[in-house]
Amino acid sequence: RPERQRKPDWIRVKAPVSKGYHETRQLMRDLSLNTVCEEAACPNIGECWTKKHATVMILGDVCTRACAFCNVKTGMPRKVDPLEPEHTALAAAKMGLEHIVITSVDRDDLPDGGAGQFVKVIKALRRETPNTTIEILTPDFRGKMRASIEAICEAGPDVFNHNLETVPRLYPTIRPGARYYSSLRLLEEVKAHDPMIFTKSGMMLGLGEQRLEVHQVMDDMRSAQIDFITLGQYLQPTPKHAKVEDFVKPQVFDAYGSIARAKGFLQVASSPLTRSSYHAGEDFAQMRDA
Ligand code: SF4
Ligand code: SF4
Repeated sequence: RPERQRKPDWIRVKAPVSKGYHETRQLMRDLSLNTVCEEAACPNIGECWTKKHATVMILGDVCTRACAFCNVKTGMPRKVDPLEPEHTALAAAKMGLEHIVITSVDRDDLPDGGAGQFVKVIKALRRETPNTTIEILTPDFRGKMRASIEAICEAGPDVFNHNLETVPRLYPTIRPGARYYSSLRLLEEVKAHDPMIFTKSGMMLGLGEQRLEVHQVMDDMRSAQIDFITLGQYLQPTPKHAKVEDFVKPQVFDAYGSIARAKGFLQVASSPLTRSSYHAGEDFAQMRDA
């Protein structure tokens, strides 16, 4: 059995033991909601759940894709839960969230790729918690992109996030079911459809990408008018997943962050433990109030 790679000192996380953590966990169980925090084995779960910040993962916990970096189960997904939109809104209301992040597994098996469920969740949230800002982190809706974007944009999320994950050269091994330029186009089309929606994307570093390739991805993102960027360290969830090629130093993340700001991103998060949804609410509130 392959050995786990040793993590450097700057990737230290507290064990999830707080009262807030347990309350968040219980609420998600009571409402039969999945979270990407648990399914992706996110290292920030202790910190985020203590602060009652969780990212709800809709459309089940089984994905039709099998990305080499991702801990989510792969296979034939179950039926979509019709109560999920109400339950998500109830969770947001009970947690008193100012900002919620909703993501999903890929549902290549559904005729609309799952876009309809995103719409229902957004509508339920707007009805039940009208003051909560909504960020969605979507799949690429392969083959159904245009109709999915139109439907979701009409529902009016505040932030539309879709991750590029890595540099185009590494797609065949790391993200084999996806196409780099399709993902870029998705965000470009969101902006074209509704310029009031903030667009956001992110990458994991440490998969073997070169610096100039990262700079190029930033340029591609800005050409697609993407507003926010997140950069974080890839961590191998199990020995079966893609290996960590490099633990990128915090100073290098800082340097990437400065470059990203110079390239014109409105909001930049770049650190080893940054994830798409890490501090998303705080960052969004700061940006909006600035
Ligand atoms: Fe969940 Fe995102 Fe926080 Fe990780 S960073 S625990 S996925 S909210
Ligand atoms: Fe994980 Fe998303 Fe890839 Fe599915 S599509 S395996 S949820 S990263």
